[in-house]
Amino acid sequence: MSLNSSSKAFILDGKQIASDLNTNTKKSTSLLSRPPKLVIIQVGGNEDSSKYINSKLKLAESLGIEAIKYTFDEDQELKVLEKIYELNEDKSVDAILPQLPLPASFDEKRLINSISSEKDCDGLHPVNVAKLNLLSKLEDHLSVGADFPIPVTARGILHLIKIALEKTRNTKSLEGLNVVIVGRSELVGKPTAALMLLENATLTVCHSKTKDLQSHTKNADILISAAGCPGLINSKMIKSDSILIDVGLTYLADTNGVYKAVGDILFEECSLIASAITPVPGGVGPLTVAMLMDNVLKIAEVRKEVK
Ligand code: NAP
Repeated sequence: MSLNSSSKAFILDGKQIASDLNTNTKKSTSLLSRPPKLVIIQVGGNEDSSKYINSKLKLAESLGIEAIKYTFDEDQELKVLEKIYELNEDKSVDAILPQLPLPASFDEKRLINSISSEKDCDGLHPVNVAKLNLLSKLEDHLSVGADFPIPVTARGILHLIKIALEKTRNTKSLEGLNVVIVGRSELVGKPTAALMLLENATLTVCHSKTKDLQSHTKNADILISAAGCPGLINSKMIKSDSILIDVGLTYLADTNGVYKAVGDILFEECSLIASAITPVPGGVGPLTVAMLMDNVLKIAEVRKEVK
């Protein structure tokens, strides 16, 4: 984390924080009797997906995780399902990750549901979603040997919030704080909401049908924006000294036609008012990938007797 000289808020340096997590993951994989094995499923040749997958493969390898990729064409849904059933049965495979989003022609829910809930490193299988929503205490789960994976972006967001709280309020507790989440997707908004409730925060979830968004965001001690709407949150919409977590990631062309990653929160103006803020890029993104690797490790730790 660093103090930005031109702004008031602490900048949560996602790259550094993720690097610390990755160091721990690497140490833990080296203690296992065999490397954890992750299989990534790619459908279609989307360039961005290929880029994300290659960086996951590279990171996994550097952490002592064996990672391979299978690629399918957009018209091969049944073949993908067959491969997933085969991987579910393959005792050497710990974790199966379909690279999302899948092409529109694919039934994404059916594919996620076909993955064994024990190998679902994204934590999106209905069994794991239910387990998260039925959990009564988070500490138990996050200890080594945890028996189900929690969605990775939500885990990354919570990790960033705890670091921000420690730095700005000298505590890691969210108890009683007003948390506002903008977005209610299965991937980000809902699992993050579940974690916030487990942390005893007072929660508000906003979405595209919310009336007067500002009346909610203005009350947030912690504001998490996951709408994918560049510039949605401006400085008039936030509370002084709040913690701002920007999950939004949209690629927009600048005046030279070069594409740049942009978040939901207007960083420059909001960082003058907030106590801590994540940049885009370099905030939530690296945490998401680090938490994915940690989920793979945790699954392998539980399955360590399986060869
Ligand atoms: P999503 O499925 O499209 O969900 C977006 C959510 O935002 C929906 O609940 C939607 O409301 C709400 N929303 C949209 N426009 C809004 C507005 N103007 N005011 C209030 N709420 C609004 O997207 P997602 O998968 O959750 O991802 C959200 C963003 O995070 C995207 O930019 C994505 O690229 C990014 N992301 C980043 C990471 C990372 O690691 N950095 C990981 C995952 C996602 P309705 O439900 O009413 O439609």
